[in-house]
Amino acid sequence: MPDREGAVPTDVPDFDVVIVGAGAAGLSLAHHLCAPGGRTPLSIALVGAPPGPLSPPRRTWCFWERGAGPYDGSLTASWSRLRVRTADGSAVTARLPELRYKMLRSDDFETLVGRRLAGSRGLRRTTATVESVRDLPGGGAEVLGRDAAGERVRLRGRHVFDSRPPRLLPPARTTLLQHFSGWFVRTERPVFDPAVPDLMDFRTPRPARGLSFGYVLPIDARTALVEYTEFSPAPLDADAYRQALDHYTREVLRLGPFEVTAREHGAIPMTDGRFPRRAGRSVYRIGTAGGATRPSTGYTFAAVQRQSRAIAAALRAGRPLRVPAAHSRRSRAMDAVMLRALDTGRIDGSDFFGRLFRGVPAERLLTFLDGGSRWYEDLLIGVRTPVAPMLRTVAELPFTPRRPALPLPPPPSGPEESRS
Ligand SMILES: Cc1cc2nc3c(=O)[nH]c(=O)nc-3n(C[C@H](O)[C@H](O)[C@H](O)COP(=O)(O)OP(=O)(O)OC[C@H]3O[C@@H](n4cnc5c(N)ncnc54)[C@H](O)[C@@H]3O)c2cc1C
Repeated sequence: MPDREGAVPTDVPDFDVVIVGAGAAGLSLAHHLCAPGGRTPLSIALVGAPPGPLSPPRRTWCFWERGAGPYDGSLTASWSRLRVRTADGSAVTARLPELRYKMLRSDDFETLVGRRLAGSRGLRRTTATVESVRDLPGGGAEVLGRDAAGERVRLRGRHVFDSRPPRLLPPARTTLLQHFSGWFVRTERPVFDPAVPDLMDFRTPRPARGLSFGYVLPIDARTALVEYTEFSPAPLDADAYRQALDHYTREVLRLGPFEVTAREHGAIPMTDGRFPRRAGRSVYRIGTAGGATRPSTGYTFAAVQRQSRAIAAALRAGRPLRVPAAHSRRSRAMDAVMLRALDTGRIDGSDFFGRLFRGVPAERLLTFLDGGSRWYEDLLIGVRTPVAPMLRTVAELPFTPRRPALPLPPPPSGPEESRS
């Protein structure tokens, strides 16, 4: 069938499902759709970007879940304890009797999912830069793009799930970024306790707006991912991250001599803007693009799993599709208050998170962050926060306009490895 430019498209197949983007959300959905069993055999196309600027560099995902999970075979590490350190250096170490905090690197995840997809007869993988996704008049939707040779690619699906990251963030009352830079370090001396990661270490200088903290994921006594993170309106330049990491690793953690074996950078939106899950009758947004990022924390991976499982369960059972919200209204409302209180400087990040981890059992807090708590448990968490500034923010929010937000900034680039 000729396309609008008169050329014959390279491909016009029909699929039950077309997935655009092979990152956390696209691969997770494909993984769940291709699980063994299922009543309805599905034909699936997974479209990944060619190597280049649209393919994100290797990254590390952490998430928590109860007991064993589908990706356990590929984890770099997992822990049943977590630590938060306040600005004055006091530490709260929390035990997780039932949950595990898990660390998964994106290349290990890709290998694991790739193995399942390779054995799945209904799945076809395509590499293309997708340029548009739109509903078709007769039902279903069409994905148009170009392959690495510049040839047009056209795929039609009964349902299309689009995970391309948004270029612009939605209008919001508060938009912050969780931006960070991390080093995988190998130290000369054994300096890490591999049993306890530091979720938030507030012994970092407080930025003019928002908050900053260190994050340490120990893999063994001499190896860890050490990150410097800010929740603030704009990312830093590469030199400022390097200085912040230098200070944190040398002055705060006192690691002694170490080698940097790899680096990781990122900027995750923290916003009370609304990400529509639907982009057409047959087009759904998934992942960060579909609102899976929890506004108050930036954690996304677990919500992506919940959503992918729900979508796959409906389609594989031949049931009508309803894509569930990644986070409940109540969670998003509470997060909007927290983000605003933080951005206006009414609450101090170290004090806020220190109080929460001291006053609330860690598992209850993590369950709340995954949207699994009841309203009265949320209330109990609410009273552990600085109540007066939070209530003032609650009163102000309905009168605060939603302003257009800026584009998501690209991460700073830098050499992959070095000696320090
Ligand atoms: C460095 C980093 C670390 C993070 N760590 C955590 C963490 O520890 N825990 C957590 O819960 N969350 C974390 N996040 C947040 C979130 O989980 C990730 O951003 C996650 O990758 C989001 O998944 P996604 O599928 O929405 O986006 P992505 O994983 O970025 O996938 C989008 C895909 O779309 C593809 N694409 C883009 N444009 C096109 C196009 N035109 N055509 C075809 N394909 C295209 C890209 O190649 C990419 O594969 C982290 C984010 C970053 C950046």
